[in-house]
Amino acid sequence: MSEAKPAAAPSRGKMKAELSDHFKTYKDVWVFVEVERGQVHPVSWELMGEGRKLADKLGVELAGVVMGASGDGCDAAIATAYEYGADKVYTIQDPLLADYRNETYTKGMTELVNTYKPEILLLGATNLGRDLAGSVATTLKTGLTADCTALAIDDDRSLGATRPTFGGSLLCTIYTLNVRPQMATIRPRVMAMPDRQPGRSGGIVLHPLGMAEESVVTKILDFIPDAAKEDAHLAYADVVVAGGVGLGKPENFKLVKDLAAVLGAEYGGSRPLVQKGWIDASRQIGQTGKTIRPRLYIAAGISGAIQHRVGVEGADQILAINTDPNAPIFDFAHQGIVGDALTVLPALTEAFRRHLS
Ligand code: FAD
Repeated sequence: MSEAKPAAAPSRGKMKAELSDHFKTYKDVWVFVEVERGQVHPVSWELMGEGRKLADKLGVELAGVVMGASGDGCDAAIATAYEYGADKVYTIQDPLLADYRNETYTKGMTELVNTYKPEILLLGATNLGRDLAGSVATTLKTGLTADCTALAIDDDRSLGATRPTFGGSLLCTIYTLNVRPQMATIRPRVMAMPDRQPGRSGGIVLHPLGMAEESVVTKILDFIPDAAKEDAHLAYADVVVAGGVGLGKPENFKLVKDLAAVLGAEYGGSRPLVQKGWIDASRQIGQTGKTIRPRLYIAAGISGAIQHRVGVEGADQILAINTDPNAPIFDFAHQGIVGDALTVLPALTEAFRRHLS
């Protein structure tokens, strides 16, 4: 009597060949264009610039995904997507998409992915983008790398998604090897804004949502903007003034606000100031706060720890004010003043006030 042999495990080479045949059905780079209350979040255009580089490297098309209620900013979003580099836009327009709800947007996005099969899908690491990316990746059973700081295409066409790890002390590059699409979220201001090409146009694919309101558990009863949050412009401000522990006590943070007011700037601070309750968490700058890319960043009494540095090194000019000439911030600041922030800040405020009036 012959014994049944266990099926031989497929060799790595065979698996790779089978996987790559399957992978060939996935093509193109997609960027989720985040439209909320008729407005596109600018991170979408930053990702379009990055997506363009990835698509060119792969020799494929770049597409935007626009979801929303018809006429609710969707047409403008589609036209602008072309101008920032999209060759094509996939759009689902349905009254159920008027406000963001995880169920409706996840259904729409997963259907688009399953139907048109992109190899890469990028989303902004905003509140909405993070919520959507997680549920889309889970539904599709694919890999998602969150909060990336760099993206690149490997020799075998894989997406290398780099992000800080171990509290920002190391960078790791993550690959989604066995499934498609490869998904990544990127925080606002991490990638540079691409040039806009007015009048540029592209193709469009309309897709139905195919969902009834009765099947959506979440209902939007009202929209109440968070009045306490004044951070909307920090990430996109041209000039930012920030303070750190070197300011000594909470009352002294007023010196940062005074200089910001004279310069028409936004203000922020290092993480310990949030932990001490001197400033709102929405004003924190750095790895676990906001990434900024202003034309001028003034940092007063901030040492320049790596977790702060990663949030500000995209600034065109960094002016550091610190009493310690060996403070790490002087390693990456373009201009430095070795001095007491409590004296230098009011002097700058006064000088700019006179100069600008
Ligand atoms: P300190 O490091 O205490 O520096 C104070 C500086 O003020 C010193 O350089 C000192 O020389 C100077 N100084 C003192 N007196 C004066 C004066 N009178 N005038 C001028 N200068 C003076 N930090 C962030 O900022 N953002 C983040 O997003 C962030 N995320 C983090 C995430 C993790 C997981 C971890 C572990 C840490 C994170 N941190 C973050 C904290 C970070 O490591 C530093 O502890 C923090 O940035 C230090 O804040 P600071 O520069 O204000 O204070």
